[in-house]
Amino acid sequence: LEDMLAVIKPDTQHKGIISIRGRGFTISRLKDTVLSREMAEEFYREHRDKPFFSQLVKINHGLFLRSGPCTMMVLTKDNMLEEWRASMGPTDPSEARQAAPGSLRACFAKEILETAVHGSSNTQSNKINVSSCFIVLKKI
Ligand code: ATP
Ligand code: MG
Repeated sequence: LEDMLAVIKPDTQHKGIISIRGRGFTISRLKDTVLSREMAEEFYREHRDKPFFSQLVKINHGLFLRSGPCTMMVLTKDNMLEEWRASMGPTDPSEARQAAPGSLRACFAKEILETAVHGSSNTQSNKINVSSCFIVLKKI
């Protein structure tokens, strides 16, 4: 079983948790927290040179990502990364609604800067994300 850090972004919190449990993921740790600027940048550091980076973590479309608490979760399931990315659906919500109508983003995301959920894109960044949040996450 793999551990993985997943994040439900502001506005999707409770409906997201219910939906995640219904998809067969075990939530082993969970914490609601307003992300610091540093943490937001850490999650998205692979994108630090992209044109949308500042919108994502700084000015951020009315500060969406940091507009309220995010639900930080450690999920546990076989083949975790792939499973979680499949559950999220494509990054662009309009594409998600076309290509993966049952996905979390099809259901909850508004537009590309407000994608409802985050998941690490590879094992290495996942390890960093899990360990950087581990201390603040309590067992449920
Ligand atoms: P996440 O990392 O949030 O799980 P993802 O892995 O599906 O999403 P990434 O390519 O890592 O997609 O993009 C990270 C975030 O950056 C997305 O959640 C989205 O809000 C934003 N983003 C991605 N591409 C664009 C774009 N072309 N224009 C604006 N924002 C974008
Ligand atoms: Mg990503």
